[in-house]
Amino acid sequence: MTARILVVDDVPANLRLLEARLLAEYFEVLTATSGREALDLCESGRVDVVLLDIMMPGMDGFEVCRRIKADPATAHIPVVMVTALDQVEDRVRGLEVGADDFLTKPANDLQLMTRVKSLVRLKVLSDELRLRASTTRAIGVEALITGMRGPEGGLPRILLVDGKAGSAEAIRAKFGDAAQVDVSLDPQDGLFRAAEGAYDTIVVTTGFDAFDPLRLCSQLRSLDRTRFLPIILVVEQGEDQRIARALELGVNDYIVRPLDGQELIARMRTQVKRKRYNDHLRASVTETIELAVTDGLTGLHNRRYLDSHLDALVSRAKSRRMPLSLMITDLDRFKSINDTWGHDGGDAVLHEFATRLRRSVRGADLACRFGGEEFVIVMPDTDGRTAEKIAERLRQEVASVPFDVGGQAVTVTISVGVAQMLHIHDDAAALLKRADRALYEAKNGGRNRVVGRAA
Ligand code: GH3
Ligand code: MG
Ligand code: MG
Repeated sequence: MTARILVVDDVPANLRLLEARLLAEYFEVLTATSGREALDLCESGRVDVVLLDIMMPGMDGFEVCRRIKADPATAHIPVVMVTALDQVEDRVRGLEVGADDFLTKPANDLQLMTRVKSLVRLKVLSDELRLRASTTRAIGVEALITGMRGPEGGLPRILLVDGKAGSAEAIRAKFGDAAQVDVSLDPQDGLFRAAEGAYDTIVVTTGFDAFDPLRLCSQLRSLDRTRFLPIILVVEQGEDQRIARALELGVNDYIVRPLDGQELIARMRTQVKRKRYNDHLRASVTETIELAVTDGLTGLHNRRYLDSHLDALVSRAKSRRMPLSLMITDLDRFKSINDTWGHDGGDAVLHEFATRLRRSVRGADLACRFGGEEFVIVMPDTDGRTAEKIAERLRQEVASVPFDVGGQAVTVTISVGVAQMLHIHDDAAALLKRADRALYEAKNGGRNRVVGRAA
């Protein structure tokens, strides 16, 4: 995962130190020695994560953070405050001005890298949503997408999963009246309730006798209904390896015992704010584009949406120097399905295919009905080889289980053409054309197969 990190510190030696460590992990690094310079760089739109020193002459880190978070153009950029001392007051003040995380100087490598990576991952998701929102405006479905900050919402609803009743009660007490906290003492029950209830954040402790809490975290990340639910892990001191694993799994934040009530509440609020912001964005994007750019039969995006959005995805991949792949699928001998089962039967097959398609792509992928029985899936951050694997999985998903057409089991197959974006001169049209050529080869090669095409 590559990303552009802005390091802000008035002491050049500190800058060089962080810069060297980030460069060693293949991040791109920008530096600034003052708050003003940092704000300018953020406004330029080239920053994915900010590592921000607190004590600086002139504008201090708190003020820089407050301004980043107050400006709708930069509010979505994650900010990590780098504090000289492990001062709880500093953290609370930082979280109040909207900081997303903290590092104590000198930051240990594990914390630095895992936190930066986890914030980059979050940023990728909200960038995707923002991009979709702007595409919506571009196609003229102007509407609800105003104020990117999201609504304040009511009292946060928290689900606390802790194997120990005494500890759970103590944590609940620390939240006081800042949140409505439900407690689950059993991980299986916790997972079930997280999926059923409308929670804003889930807090998982490591206090289980015979259960690995990271298993629960990974289950929460894989279920559709909880995929976007923030998770905060409560750990014991010295559980660094577990923290690293947790953040890799997509846990959003952690807090170390003994718990400071203010810090707990502030971290919870940060997660709730981010979730509501993303939910809001997702909801307004969904509402506004649904009618204009959704295919009525399958519920997928339509060609109009793809046409307007693919260019943006391609140029973003280029500017970030990330791979991007695209596949075109076409149902095999679909005309004969129509001929045998009627047009309604054909429609039922298209509908079921779209369901299987949705199941096998990630949230960041863009699946569209390109026309008739042709579908296009755009996969950001995905190289051609991976895309071919995904295509093959989808092909099997279709071929291996017959479709239900009015109670009859009908075997359906697809052919798939895959193409990867190659170089800086590649554009959306060229990419589509290559995938289409690959599809043609798959058809000629006998159908029910995937063909990848490098050039
Ligand atoms: P091939 O394996 O070469 O792709 O053969 P095919 O029969 O699938 O290809 P062809 O492109 O010749 O036929 C596609 C058919 O899909 C023709 C058209 O009537 C049908 N079709 C297109 N849109 C719809 C739709 O919305 N519903 C139904 N039921 N059929 C559709
Ligand atoms: Mg066909
Ligand atoms: Mg066709």
